[in-house]
Amino acid sequence: MATPPSEPRGRLSVAPAPAFPDDDLPEGAVVDGETLASSRGESFDVVVVGSGAAGAVAAHALASAGFEVAVVEEGPWIKTRDVRSDVHSTFQRAMRLGGMQVLQGRAYMPMLQGRCVGGSTLVNSAIAWRAPEDVIDDWSARFGLGESVTARALEPHYAALEEELSVREVAPEAMGENNRLFIEQARRQGFEAAPMRRYDRGCAGSGMCITACPTAAKQGMSVSYVPWALRLGRARVFTSCRVSEIEIRGSRAASVVARSATGHRVALHARHAVIVAASTVQSPNVLRRSGVRSAALGEHFQAHPGLAVGGLFDRPIRMAFGATQGAESVHFRKSERFKLETISLPPDLAAARVPGVGAELAERLAELGHVAVWAAQVRAEAEGTVREGWGGVDRVRFTMTEDDMRAARKACTLIARMMFDAGAREVWPGVFGVPSVLRSIDEVKLLAEAPLDPRAYSFIATHLFGAARMGRDPRASVVDLDFRVHGVDGLYVVDSSVFPTNLGVNPQHTIMAMSRMASHRLAERIQRRHAA
Ligand SMILES: Cc1cc2nc3c(=O)[nH]c(=O)nc-3n(C[C@H](O)[C@H](O)[C@H](O)COP(=O)(O)OP(=O)(O)OC[C@H]3O[C@@H](n4cnc5c(N)ncnc54)[C@H](O)[C@@H]3O)c2cc1C
Ligand code: SF4
Repeated sequence: MATPPSEPRGRLSVAPAPAFPDDDLPEGAVVDGETLASSRGESFDVVVVGSGAAGAVAAHALASAGFEVAVVEEGPWIKTRDVRSDVHSTFQRAMRLGGMQVLQGRAYMPMLQGRCVGGSTLVNSAIAWRAPEDVIDDWSARFGLGESVTARALEPHYAALEEELSVREVAPEAMGENNRLFIEQARRQGFEAAPMRRYDRGCAGSGMCITACPTAAKQGMSVSYVPWALRLGRARVFTSCRVSEIEIRGSRAASVVARSATGHRVALHARHAVIVAASTVQSPNVLRRSGVRSAALGEHFQAHPGLAVGGLFDRPIRMAFGATQGAESVHFRKSERFKLETISLPPDLAAARVPGVGAELAERLAELGHVAVWAAQVRAEAEGTVREGWGGVDRVRFTMTEDDMRAARKACTLIARMMFDAGAREVWPGVFGVPSVLRSIDEVKLLAEAPLDPRAYSFIATHLFGAARMGRDPRASVVDLDFRVHGVDGLYVVDSSVFPTNLGVNPQHTIMAMSRMASHRLAERIQRRHAA
């Protein structure tokens, strides 16, 4: 048989690889700490610690205002073309401690944080929520933030982020049955539910946000503000470089000192400011290592502990198709302190929650395509502490209160009831002391009487707040109303560690809006000072 003339023998015909937003960056814009062969010392106008939601937005805002910016990120840059769908290898490379961090208290609660360019936004579900006005009003009334953080002041920043990151409702074709059924069921129960609004440029509903988006549809920071800042030509990112401390000379933040994965010292002098955006857990510890002393540092840590309930149906749900988290209800946010959400778990994670052993487990695993998972995020009132443990490991102590546990139990009971009402054959509540498989709606009452001991539940913490509070009084807060660390010139914190409380809704949008607002104000102050 003759060989086709255009196709040399032995070569496959392949479509050209797509160009992703994290491809083709300006030369020299990325300094990779995994290959750095010698120490570095450079000067920038502003040095930003962390490239997650807070850090990426700050870097882009300041580079857009004309400043030379360095971003220092402890983790690697996982490019879209290198995204893999298996949980284990993604967690090893992209998550802090490979996803094995825990909150320690009466119960050990897994705490997930990204450790890579984009931070937790690489692996999150891209849900965008503005802070409820009652929360912002509370910050003003109880913590005196009203001169700095108001709904009005945040509005243009939320609006710009929504435009730039393409915030929109999950498209009907990317909804999937797990999400659709939840909305239908909530409405049947008599409360409102809706498709999520997300940072989304063409989500295909692969249900794989937790292992990063294979098509860059999800607008995480590694495919948006980080490359956008680098393309302005005034920013550079140092990846796989862990910041050990900020050098404070006199009362001024002078430089950021990091160590590359290859062991070399990276010292970046900051002409105007250092911005700490390393997250609620790491920012307080970076400040502590830098000599910042404050009674409030590491105090008032808060979270939204989340729990998930599985339901096995006779008909296909196909959780693997649909936006990872595509539907929600905030009906109980104020009255009961929880928010309901759907979540699709990849088989490697879902398997860990499937009840049974041996043949029984195998049978259920074979039916994973018939499983729905719905979840609740509890707006816990509990407060914990952030410290640095032995060997530089972050140590967070946190125990939910009895009222928090009542809210969690109520949410769990409500979801179980919704699932049976939607036709589930089995419900898997995952609560110790209650049968691992409930087989009828009558058995849901067992859940309503479940223990209020946090050790009985499988919580997971991904929304983290506090530990470097904002406030006017240096005895009760760490940063002032300009996001500046009390008593240190040129040192700012712009992530959710400055929040005086948790939000009751997903935090990324407010973290970015606060960071953008803080960065714009900082840019104006520096420009005014230089004009004078
Ligand atoms: C699985 C998951 C799903 C989530 N889903 C949503 C969602 O859908 N919507 C939502 O609103 N929120 C969601 N969240 C929460 C949201 O992602 C975080 O609140 C947000 O990303 C926090 O922003 P950040 O900048 O403070 O921290 P991060 O985004 O975590 O970024 C901090 C960065 O700083 C780096 N860093 C830390 N210490 C150092 C150091 N010493 N030197 C250098 N770099 C350092 C870290 O490596 C990290 O990359 C989710 C979180 C997770 C884990
Ligand atoms: S669900 Fe959508 S946004 Fe998430 S990984 Fe899949 S395609 Fe990307």
